[in-house]
Amino acid sequence: MSNLNRISAVNTVAALCETRPEPASPANISFYGQDVFSRDAMQQYLSKATAEKLIDTIDNGAPLDPSIAADVAHAMKHWAMERGATHFTHWFLPLTGSTAEKHDSFLEIKNGQAITAFSAKNLIVSEPDASSFPSGGLRCTFEARGYTAWDPTSPAFIKRHANGATLCIPTVFCSYTGEALDRKTPLLRSMQVLRAAVKRLMKNFGFADERVSITLGAEQEYFLIDKHFYLHRPDLIQTGRTVFGAPPAKHQQLEDHYFGSIKMRILNCMTEVEHELWKLGIPAKTRHNEVAPAQFELAPIFEDMNLACDHNMLVMEMLREVADRHGLVCLLHEKPFAGVNGSGKHNNWSVNYGNINLLEPGKDPQQNAIFLTMMTAIIEAVDTHSALLRASVSGAGNDHRLGANEAPPAIISIYLGDQLTEVIEQVGKESRAAARSAGSMRVGVDTLPPLPKDATDRNRTSPFAFTGNKFEFRSPGSSQSCSGPCVVLNTIVADSVNHICDEMEKFGKNDFNRELQKLLSKIICDHKRIIFNGNGYTQEWQEEAARRGLPNTPTSLKSLGALVSSQTQELFNKYGVYNIRELESRHEVFQEDILRRISIEGGIALEIAKSMILPVARAEFGKLVDALEKCNAAHIQSGKDTLTDNANMLGDALDRLNAKIRVLEKALAAENGKVREAMDALRLVVDELESQLPDEAWPLPKYREMLFLY
Ligand code: ADP
Ligand code: MG
Repeated sequence: MSNLNRISAVNTVAALCETRPEPASPANISFYGQDVFSRDAMQQYLSKATAEKLIDTIDNGAPLDPSIAADVAHAMKHWAMERGATHFTHWFLPLTGSTAEKHDSFLEIKNGQAITAFSAKNLIVSEPDASSFPSGGLRCTFEARGYTAWDPTSPAFIKRHANGATLCIPTVFCSYTGEALDRKTPLLRSMQVLRAAVKRLMKNFGFADERVSITLGAEQEYFLIDKHFYLHRPDLIQTGRTVFGAPPAKHQQLEDHYFGSIKMRILNCMTEVEHELWKLGIPAKTRHNEVAPAQFELAPIFEDMNLACDHNMLVMEMLREVADRHGLVCLLHEKPFAGVNGSGKHNNWSVNYGNINLLEPGKDPQQNAIFLTMMTAIIEAVDTHSALLRASVSGAGNDHRLGANEAPPAIISIYLGDQLTEVIEQVGKESRAAARSAGSMRVGVDTLPPLPKDATDRNRTSPFAFTGNKFEFRSPGSSQSCSGPCVVLNTIVADSVNHICDEMEKFGKNDFNRELQKLLSKIICDHKRIIFNGNGYTQEWQEEAARRGLPNTPTSLKSLGALVSSQTQELFNKYGVYNIRELESRHEVFQEDILRRISIEGGIALEIAKSMILPVARAEFGKLVDALEKCNAAHIQSGKDTLTDNANMLGDALDRLNAKIRVLEKALAAENGKVREAMDALRLVVDELESQLPDEAWPLPKYREMLFLY
């Protein structure tokens, strides 16, 4: 049996690689935001008074004046139709982790005439028949349907296709009893909670009321491979990752891909992605090659967190869509290829009060005090709820990444860099501070030494790194919504800020700085075990973290327990971010998701092994046996030893292959939690066969082809 599919794919791709640069025309970004119902569009399409009211709702969270909804709807329809839209959809983020949309046209029939209409009600609420979305028991189908409700803080936008366009209205998705069925509702709640806590803190520092904004910049990693290869990999098609594949001789050892020059075909695709994103007002900024071959990154300029989370969903969608137009496939799975780096999504997070970034060391003693208070709150929050943060990045794909010495370990810790750690330690030594011994730091009196942006490699190994004026949470997986980890981060930090405020509000008037120092010092002493600036990839850190009592939960399935611990329930309940039913439902949905994905992977591994690998191995074995028989018949001695040796080796591998297939079959049937183990064992044999069997007989595109030919 020869495999023409794979070989012809290689030939086709070879012909494709020959793109040439076009003569340049002048660059132009005037189309930025053209497909967003932006402030400019609002001002253009709405009366001044209505536009002002809407913008007030967006900026300041003023309740939406229901009397303007009809005007807004009308203007939006007008604006959208001018851009080719015939349909609208409430766009929402169900617990599946992707986006959902159900389109309705603007068409209405009135007195037998076709007209277009889009009412206030159409804009504000919708009742998708959403009974098939996972809800973890929150919405029994007989009980009630879910409804979607307009989120005016994320602007409506237009999605185009070859024959028209659709007006997309970002919405929350809830049950009739008001329980969140999506990822946006809790995010908005958690942002509200953190904003309130920060306002309270700033009031304690004597600041007037200002707008608090929480910012997120999500760096997105992804792979691009040629579609011809993809189409011959049933595992990629079905699961987004290769369940088999021997590492090629060269993969990422030479470290020659990271920041390397970008191949023209890839650059063409990236540029089109960026243009599409710019049309949607998504500020794509940075692009580069990543560590693994065929791996890349896209980073936007940071934005308000709610918007940034929505935008990241669109970034993922656009990457997939545009790649397809270029004959490529974008793989967003956390670990598409074994043996080379997986993909993450680094969530850069910060909190601003008016124009002040509270995570930026200040210029004067008071701003320093605020900065140190925020740092202390974050240290307390992350240490207290590290298991919950770990749970927030759980997923079947991310398990292959966390702790694989290429991504942060499953142990959550904070990287502050040596200098800031020193400062925090000085604050921790409160008693000596009063006497101003050398190396002490008086909160509210001293300014910080300049903190260099620590560019060491160690922070790459940290799950949660301070990077100058923001924290970078590096554990989230590349395919995951940013929302889950952001909800946790916002809420736990809000709780610590509130805890600090509770104490601050008991301070005597005169000794504010001394008392603050005492308070921060105590919190730091209690929680500094979470700070770790060393190399997170080492075995020593695993041991050290165990000594420090830090949780280490490598499997996502186990880590999910933290979602329903009494500590978590109490926390989220206190702030109304998730009630107990909402937590339980998420626990159930996420668990199911992991189990189902593993079982699908097992299923496809079994199918490939039985229907693609086993037949090839059998046929090759048969050829060797035939050759041996012919040697015997013709009394040929030379070459027989080699044939015998080869047949024995292949026969042995064939037996093992068959045995491992049986084990996987049993594991899948028994649902005994051993599917991953069985897949790993099967993979060893299949990958061994890949290097034993004749190249032209191997049916699956190989790593060296997928990762290097594009
Ligand atoms: P890196 O060295 O990790 O690539 P960059 O400085 O390029 O760091 O920033 C990475 C991401 O962090 C970008 O998306 C950027 O917009 C975002 N970022 C920068 N400042 C902030 C901030 N104050 N809040 C949130 N994200 C930020
Ligand atoms: Mg980064």
